[in-house]
Amino acid sequence: IVHWPFIVSQRKRYSWIQLAGHKGNFKAGEEGTVLKKFSENEKRCFERLMGDVLYSFVPAYHGIVEREGEPYLQLTDLLGGFNGPCVMDCKIGVRHPHCIPIPPSLSETPALHTHPSLIIRDTRTAYPSLPHYQRHLIGSPLLFYSPIFLMLCVSLQKADGTCSTDFKRTKTQEQVTLVFRDFVEGNKRIMETYLAKLEEIRRVLESSEFFKSHEVIGSSLLFIHDHNELANVWLIDFGKTTPLSEGQTLTHRAEWCEGNREDGYLWGLDNMVSLVSNIARD
Ligand code: ATP
Ligand code: MG
Ligand code: MG
Repeated sequence: IVHWPFIVSQRKRYSWIQLAGHKGNFKAGEEGTVLKKFSENEKRCFERLMGDVLYSFVPAYHGIVEREGEPYLQLTDLLGGFNGPCVMDCKIGVRHPHCIPIPPSLSETPALHTHPSLIIRDTRTAYPSLPHYQRHLIGSPLLFYSPIFLMLCVSLQKADGTCSTDFKRTKTQEQVTLVFRDFVEGNKRIMETYLAKLEEIRRVLESSEFFKSHEVIGSSLLFIHDHNELANVWLIDFGKTTPLSEGQTLTHRAEWCEGNREDGYLWGLDNMVSLVSNIARD
């Protein structure tokens, strides 16, 4: 009760920051929760995640609730506990639902293939006129792929409240480094906390039954920190994450080719870890 007015003013000021996604997909939930528009697929993922080693690295799932006749997934609000949070949403992996595949030979930045790094770019600009890739585009909402999209569509909100979602021109490792530095305003301790967390996430992912048996597409790492240097990273958005067939597993590092369902998640994460570690240590 003592903290009530404090919480109210915080909530008012920073009430629910939603970076990515359709604005209509979210509603504020009961104290400490957010409601995400129901999808059967994401519900199934969260149910499984609650029994997996990844449990504490994703928002806790509290079941389905109804608002105005519509079903929602009730999730723990990850912003809870932060004071004036800065938030960054990074999609991870080489595949994305809105991403059109680009063969290495057609990439605008071929150097990146020999030295894959974190790439943030607009996923909607590509090569729709290529028949082979167009087939993917039409055939399935999940097949868009590029070997250089290891991390993309970053949106972020900084301490001063400014929000950026346009990272069309953020492509090279140097540019991504600048985005990260700017996000933490040069704070090394926050970067070190992020690094430790990312390394922990990588370890846990490598032992997760859920991760082994799912193709993870369009999922993000959500980075949150505040001026008290509280910092954490969570895995969010399992709307396009689907189970593999019985017995099939992914390396999440191998290159995608038609039919293998590799998503490049760990490839992207490896690159992110090395980028963040360069920033934390330079
Ligand atoms: P898209 O598929 O376009 O990426 P989406 O509709 O599937 O979006 P999410 O990616 O799950 O939605 O979430 C969108 C944004 O909402 C995130 O970038 C983040 O800012 C915020 N968000 C989502 N879940 C949570 C949560 N549990 N706690 C706090 N913030 C969240
Ligand atoms: Mg998302
Ligand atoms: Mg989504």
